[in-house]
Amino acid sequence: MKLVSIMAKVDKDKCIGCKTCEKLCPVLAIQIEDKKAIIDEDACRGCANCADRCPVYAITMVKREEPFTVKVDVKQFPKEAIDEICRKAHVNPEQVLCYCVGTRAEEVAAALLSGAKTPEEVSSMTGMRTGCTIECIQPMLRMVEAAGNKLQPIEGGHQWYGKTITAWELSDEVKDKYKSKGFFFDEDKELLDQIVNLKLEEGQNEK
Ligand code: SF4
Ligand code: SF4
Repeated sequence: MKLVSIMAKVDKDKCIGCKTCEKLCPVLAIQIEDKKAIIDEDACRGCANCADRCPVYAITMVKREEPFTVKVDVKQFPKEAIDEICRKAHVNPEQVLCYCVGTRAEEVAAALLSGAKTPEEVSSMTGMRTGCTIECIQPMLRMVEAAGNKLQPIEGGHQWYGKTITAWELSDEVKDKYKSKGFFFDEDKELLDQIVNLKLEEGQNEK
């Protein structure tokens, strides 16, 4: 959930059409037309990434006259369906995945069950990844994939690059190689899965 209270505005006289903003907007709210940035104000989620990175300071963040909240109601879906996506992504449903916005895994799962198929759609629906736009991308990609979607980075965009490998995907060869250097991937993996599974069971017992 995010209260969207600000939005980006472009000064077209200053804009040089470099496309930097278009490439990094986490909700694809910017398009370049006739070498000028056009912002879809309804789609903007107020992250200020475009304003922070425009090389000629052509974008400013302004207060919205009518702030609005984006959120997906977790309760509209069976808990089992939410838990299943979270379990596949190796996260607990109550876990906060985006610290800038405070988005929990369960809300991301609900967005995916509502029809979101891409990280950009999850951002638009929940506000996740509309803060720093960096830290939460990996768990977001895992969640999108866990819901059965194919990850397809946008060509030429900076929104995200591929998924980082996790302990669950490392080959035995790599795990053996690093064991002697103080890495215990299998033990870490087991512990993390235990925490997720214990919490899921706790939730079921409370029902
Ligand atoms: S980053 Fe700035 S200069 Fe470049 S297209 Fe966007 S608004 Fe225009
Ligand atoms: S969501 Fe962020 S990057 Fe996209 S237009 Fe709004 S402020 Fe700019």
